[in-house]
Amino acid sequence: MNIRVLAYEMTEAVEAFRLKARRFFYSVMLIGHRCPKCNGSLAMVSEGRCLCVSCGKEFDPTVTFQRCSACGGVPVLQVRRYQCRDCGSGIISKFLFDELVFDPDYFRQRMVESRKRKQEQRERVRQMLAESRSGDLPLDHAELGSVPGLVDALNALTAGMDEAIAVEACEQFNLKAYENHVRAHIHDYPLSLTDILPLSENPKKDLIWRFVAIVFLAHTGVVDVWQDGQEIMVKKHEANRERQDISGESENTDGLEGPVGRAEAG
Ligand SMILES: [Zn+2]
Ligand SMILES: [Zn+2]
Repeated sequence: MNIRVLAYEMTEAVEAFRLKARRFFYSVMLIGHRCPKCNGSLAMVSEGRCLCVSCGKEFDPTVTFQRCSACGGVPVLQVRRYQCRDCGSGIISKFLFDELVFDPDYFRQRMVESRKRKQEQRERVRQMLAESRSGDLPLDHAELGSVPGLVDALNALTAGMDEAIAVEACEQFNLKAYENHVRAHIHDYPLSLTDILPLSENPKKDLIWRFVAIVFLAHTGVVDVWQDGQEIMVKKHEANRERQDISGESENTDGLEGPVGRAEAG
């Protein structure tokens, strides 16, 4: 005796029985009801929808045939429940076997509202980011004078330097490499220019190149640079820090209300 096979066959038999019971329930429910347009006979097509087999008219039998027991009013579908249009009493549908019935207009409206909420949220975030942005940065050309004290600091750095070294410096200097190097070493807190490790063997030249790279980075708004005594201080520009992620509101249309129809009648 294979229990699993028996259990499977049993489940199938129960399901087949349920389908038969459902068909029987609907045929009984629809006996005595005819198409309001052509008097044809009716068949159920889905929960809350029946169809005239003669003219093809499709309609909700609860709304068409059932009336409020308190006042005789017409039921209207409210999300998942029927309610009397006149007195507001709840109406338990006689035309639902065990499935849920939905109000498609309600869910369409919910989707519209949800999309609108998301749009408004995006707009709020956009405004927040726009307000926290720093002012426009003029980027037409590099201007050493735009950073206070930099020209003096540059002069102090190169004072007493061999002219030959300066020429050589220009020839070998790879600005991009130094910019990338500085970008990789700066932080949200101030560092001295001398704390950033050299990229080349000549410490004097390297200091100048690091400094030039910092001047260019300061000009494009990547770093903040200032002089502190004999030191050139550098740190990440405030606006360059990562912004906090603002996660979207999750959409949820579940758990609205319970089932409607016969399931509630007992
Ligand atoms: Zn009909
Ligand atoms: Zn009523």
